Amino acid sequence: MLTSRLFLICASIVSFCIETSQATCNVTHVGDTENLLLRGTILTSNGALCDSHVLVESGKITYVGSGHDLGCMLGQKNVTVVDCIGSVISPGFINTHEHIGYSTITPLKDIGERTNQRHDWRVGARNFTRRPAPVNGSEYDATKWGELRHIFSGTTSIVGGEMVPGLARNLDFASGLEDGLFAPTATFDVFPLNDASGIQRLGNCDYGAAAITQDEAGRLYRYLAHVGEGVDAVAENEFQCLSNSTFDVTPLTDGGGLSTDIIAPNLALIHASSLTNEDFDLVAARGAMVVWSPRSNVFLYGKTLNVTYLLDAGITVALGTDWLPSGSATMGREAVCGRDVTQKDYDIGIAPQDIWEMMTINAAKVAGFEHQLGSLDVGKLADIVVFSGDVQQGDAFAQAVYAPSDNLQLVLRGGKILVAGEGLDILATEGCEAVLWGSVTKSICVTDAVNSTFAEFEAVLGGVYPAILPGIPDGEPTCVSTR
Ligand SMILES: [Zn+2]
Repeated sequence: MLTSRLFLICASIVSFCIETSQATCNVTHVGDTENLLLRGTILTSNGALCDSHVLVESGKITYVGSGHDLGCMLGQKNVTVVDCIGSVISPGFINTHEHIGYSTITPLKDIGERTNQRHDWRVGARNFTRRPAPVNGSEYDATKWGELRHIFSGTTSIVGGEMVPGLARNLDFASGLEDGLFAPTATFDVFPLNDASGIQRLGNCDYGAAAITQDEAGRLYRYLAHVGEGVDAVAENEFQCLSNSTFDVTPLTDGGGLSTDIIAPNLALIHASSLTNEDFDLVAARGAMVVWSPRSNVFLYGKTLNVTYLLDAGITVALGTDWLPSGSATMGREAVCGRDVTQKDYDIGIAPQDIWEMMTINAAKVAGFEHQLGSLDVGKLADIVVFSGDVQQGDAFAQAVYAPSDNLQLVLRGGKILVAGEGLDILATEGCEAVLWGSVTKSICVTDAVNSTFAEFEAVLGGVYPAILPGIPDGEPTCVSTR
């Protein structure tokens, strides 16, 4: 009770705190590193809590508040105190859309062609140029490399279609959930209509014979499915076939060919960039969710959806990077793209807190882990990131979501330190190594999961697209719409 009362007092809602020139965190007391007390600006759905505290014990959050009542709670505990005044403390980002196995690839070159539906570029349909994306080396190593890239930009959980143990939490694999998290998991589907061969339809649902059915989808805990990726009626036809049982009632002779209706609260539509406002009204009415990947939409199709329409309709929207070839390399760059494209194309500003929710609590809801992840609440897992740097746009949420990875001070997954910034190297002990991060040095602690040092692994991969990306990533696909 006391904690919630303090929340109310502290949440005399603000989105920014005093500006400070302090750029880093400092360890002011070294105690047991299993128990960390973080001090800084805490980001919550009720606003930013200035000069507040988060206590982490045995991998979980055990206190959040102003700290006035902390003394009695700490008792004889010997916690390590990390003072990050001026920095923002956020739940670790959750990336709800990645094809993480494509991470040893460089982004696709922009050939100036914008397609209308994904099979146009996937298989070269309708006379478009096929854009292959061959993975360098093994997919396992690429996945490991991709998870490192996301951890090194503040993402602690991923729905990515592939996984390796020990790095980011993989919310679509029971064996990839990591400490403290348990099944059921999300189901990730690239081809709900069984159309991997490149089937495009208009006015009927004659896709593959093994397309998803209402019964099958309804049995899933969370179903994250690519639907309506593209910008034309052929792309939108996919939504018709999955939202209206009477749209096509004529079966194919070899099976399949029928429309169904899977629009329900356990569904998150990935992309949905071709849907009409009327379609989104149905999505909202049914309580289904949407995963938004604006950069990849803009690069491949020339535009993305107007996310503010979805937000106004009450749809839970989460952000996802899609994949390295046409999407953002980090969640921070995806957030920047989402902000910019919405401002430029639709002349509407998105509040940084709305973007932050797409990267945290909304993402947790999409994947079905909102009771364990996605916010800094007592009892949740201590997946926490800390960003220093200037207060951007006078907004503490902006300081987190638009931050370059240079500003990353701390990444914790279940209280375990994965990244420790300048001045925090004292926290980085076993299995940690110092790495060059732009012009500074940070400590990373991934040796146990990588099975070698990061430097050795990087050397083995040999010249691949980097996993540590200060500033704007090289060759980043455009986020400027062309239609
Ligand atoms: Zn995808």
